[in-house]
Amino acid sequence: MAMVAVMDDRVAPAEHSIRADLGVVRHDWTRTEIRALLALSFPELIFRAQSVHRLHFDPSEVQISTLLSIKTGGCPEDCAYCPQSVRYDTGVKADKLMSVDAVVAEATAAKSAGAGRFCMGAAWREPKDRDLDKVCEMVAGVKALGLETCATLGMLTPVQARRLQASGLDYYNHNLDTSPEHYGAIITTRTYQDRLDTLHHVRAAGIHVCCGGIVGMGESVEDRVGMIATLASLAPHPESVPINMLVKVAGTPLDNSETIDPLDFVRTIAVARICMPRSVVRLSAGREDMREETQALCFLAGANSIFYGPKLLTTPNPDRDRDRALMDKLGLTPMV
Ligand code: SF4
Repeated sequence: MAMVAVMDDRVAPAEHSIRADLGVVRHDWTRTEIRALLALSFPELIFRAQSVHRLHFDPSEVQISTLLSIKTGGCPEDCAYCPQSVRYDTGVKADKLMSVDAVVAEATAAKSAGAGRFCMGAAWREPKDRDLDKVCEMVAGVKALGLETCATLGMLTPVQARRLQASGLDYYNHNLDTSPEHYGAIITTRTYQDRLDTLHHVRAAGIHVCCGGIVGMGESVEDRVGMIATLASLAPHPESVPINMLVKVAGTPLDNSETIDPLDFVRTIAVARICMPRSVVRLSAGREDMREETQALCFLAGANSIFYGPKLLTTPNPDRDRDRALMDKLGLTPMV
């Protein structure tokens, strides 16, 4: 009895006072609120993220996407993490844009392997109109297979976005990469505003937005706060939010960056889940080097999408058998 009395007298720590609107879609997240979430005790943060996740999603379902590089290397941009920039000696060979038939064949194989969405990535600053003609054909061909379509082609004009939408594009990926403050240390060949403008054109064309960032690029905790605050201020929120862990590639300026603590990565996922409750949060690049336990924690923190397939553009990804085994072990099933 004495024990019960002691328990009843306990005062809940402040961090246990959860806002009544947890799980409600908001676009007015302040940096102070996001900073406070990141600083919560790990169990409290995961509990909140999982609570939000369950309000909007089946926690045992994971959306599966496949990513194909339809035009590799030779990009004039200087994104410091990217092995496809011509400015860095990374050994990535520049290829021409793939043929429409070859892309549709890859999409057919991805569908039989269980993918629900097929993403086509091209290493361009922006597509030329003649290249876009071909990409539109690819989009129409992939869509005809019954797959959701996604593309990442660099900056778009409003007209290009509308053309892609008309050809059947469901999603366009264009990441903000990091906070506005850290951005200049990562990319100098286009501005943060350029990125926001492309996102605006994509949204205005009626295409779903896939937009997230990369952690482990030498950013501060405050930069992670700023990145999530910017993503969560987009109205509507991006339907898909990839959170990438930097894959360090020899020859790129970020090759020697300090590796992010896996638990800090999990925290970033959890806060993204809380701030963008209805978005699919994708556990994206960096899984190849991630332990199963870390991936499991990411799913617990609200990640509910992965890329499936042995390569993410030019960097390695776990092979399908390894992913299937992990999903079986965790009792996860593909989202349909
Ligand atoms: S991330 Fe994209 S835009 Fe930047 S260098 Fe790589 S391919 Fe080019």
